Amino acid sequence: MERVMKAALLYEGAKELIIREIEVSKLNSGEALIKVKATGICHSDLNIIDGVIKPPRYPHILGHEIAGIVEDFRPINIEEKRFVDALFQETEGRVIVYFYIACGQCFYCLRGEDNLCLNFRRIGFEEWGGYAEYVKTPIKNLIPLPKTLNFNAAILVDAGATVYRALRKAKPLPGTIIAIIGVGGLGGMAIQIAKTFGASVIAIDIIDEKLIYAKKLGADYTLNFKEIYHEDVHEIRKFMKKTLDISYVDIVIDTVGSSSTINLGVNIVKRGGRVMLLGYGKEKLLNISPIKIIYDEIVIEGSRAASKWEVYEVIQLAKKNLIVPNVTNEYKLEDVNVAINDLRTGKILGRAIIKFD
Ligand SMILES: [Zn+2]
Ligand SMILES: [Zn+2]
Repeated sequence: MERVMKAALLYEGAKELIIREIEVSKLNSGEALIKVKATGICHSDLNIIDGVIKPPRYPHILGHEIAGIVEDFRPINIEEKRFVDALFQETEGRVIVYFYIACGQCFYCLRGEDNLCLNFRRIGFEEWGGYAEYVKTPIKNLIPLPKTLNFNAAILVDAGATVYRALRKAKPLPGTIIAIIGVGGLGGMAIQIAKTFGASVIAIDIIDEKLIYAKKLGADYTLNFKEIYHEDVHEIRKFMKKTLDISYVDIVIDTVGSSSTINLGVNIVKRGGRVMLLGYGKEKLLNISPIKIIYDEIVIEGSRAASKWEVYEVIQLAKKNLIVPNVTNEYKLEDVNVAINDLRTGKILGRAIIKFD
């Protein structure tokens, strides 16, 4: 008899997911079957539902922040067998799933940047993801989840590692002032990780409740976007000076990626400063004068997810209690549409997850 699982299916053009029982995927050589324990709900999932990112086939199963337990595996060679054996010894099969399935052959893979692989597929994007009781993944994508961390650590693979990579690339020094625009899954992790670099953090969001939450996570200052944002850059500067006694920041981490947030970022960063773009939506961007970018030598830099080794490093930060996966809302798979709507309407302070028994 075929084994079945509950999964939340996305059909083309649908706004809501449908829970169905479907067959559990059969394993090919080199793959493992994971019993999912927690899956993070990311803004990218909204982008897939909205058709901004299109999966290659429907129905699709979302979910790229997955933690669970290895239930079955088919190693391709003795090395993979040893890897899984060690995994069971070390963590009793508890894993986080790295979601970029990289080719391992291209220039970027050889540099250890699986996230830039020229031939990648992604779990939850091109392949079925973790909005289901089971997910299959290449064995090489399994990352051991230390026993001292719970399954909320699922969100470290994207929300955690994505901001870790961006901050690592921006190279903050102790005392560096970092503005983090957007407090949510990524923003909440960014505040905590920026503090581990010894930086001062200004959290900026449009919702006051999120700013209170940002303070709890360690933000030194908070600003409401509605108060600071102004068409006239001098007004922005005046406001910063008046409220924080700061004229410029060294680094901006933009987890939202709208025209107005990028505009704000470019206008509060110092000369030679960096604006890191991590978030995106439907909108086409950049209504910014080249003179501003050139005269102030501003670096606008994209940062895409993270490579596998960066996920390992973020897990170490959590293991050392320097950061906590900022899960604020838990849902059952049956309530996935409520969860998605809560994320859309700004009701999630940090990260929402789907929790499985
Ligand atoms: Zn994501
Ligand atoms: Zn590659």
